Amino acid sequence: MMKLDISELLRTPGMNFNYPVQETLPSLPDLDYASPVMGYLQFHRTSNMLIIRGELEAAVREECVRCLEEVIVPIHAEVEEEFTIENLRVAANPNEEEGDQSVKDFFKEQDLILDEFIRQQLLLNKPEYPLCAEDCKGLCQQCGINFNESNCECAPAAGDSRLARLAELYNNGSG
Ligand SMILES: [Zn+2]
Ligand SMILES: [Zn+2]
Repeated sequence: MMKLDISELLRTPGMNFNYPVQETLPSLPDLDYASPVMGYLQFHRTSNMLIIRGELEAAVREECVRCLEEVIVPIHAEVEEEFTIENLRVAANPNEEEGDQSVKDFFKEQDLILDEFIRQQLLLNKPEYPLCAEDCKGLCQQCGINFNESNCECAPAAGDSRLARLAELYNNGSG
């Protein structure tokens, strides 16, 4: 677990702190890293807030939503978070029930848990519908053949008129 001691930041209004990010993190169920995480985090302590700004880049392994092949997806996250010092104090206290659970997950005592903070930022920016290619043709609903690799003899699904029209065009064009 990567921890960053931010006790001095919490104690020192006006303090700035720059942290270059270059971390190889273990893969997680929802984030299968295919590259190290690169970027930077800038911490700024105002009179009553901790502001975190920065940029993070990583590549993760995903499944194409159409053909289910593995695809490497780049993620770019613009970090823009603000916490009141009071909220951080509450979240940091393990005996305190109150407090934002997502903050409790990445902030413990005086440490920022970098893995978890980075995970939350990347998840916010992970594409919802990854594709191996913009024009991925997907799988045959009936036989499961990958249309990017070959074709099959299955009739187009009756309900899908758009696909049926495409198949017609394709047949006319090649015939
Ligand atoms: Zn695909
Ligand atoms: Zn088929």
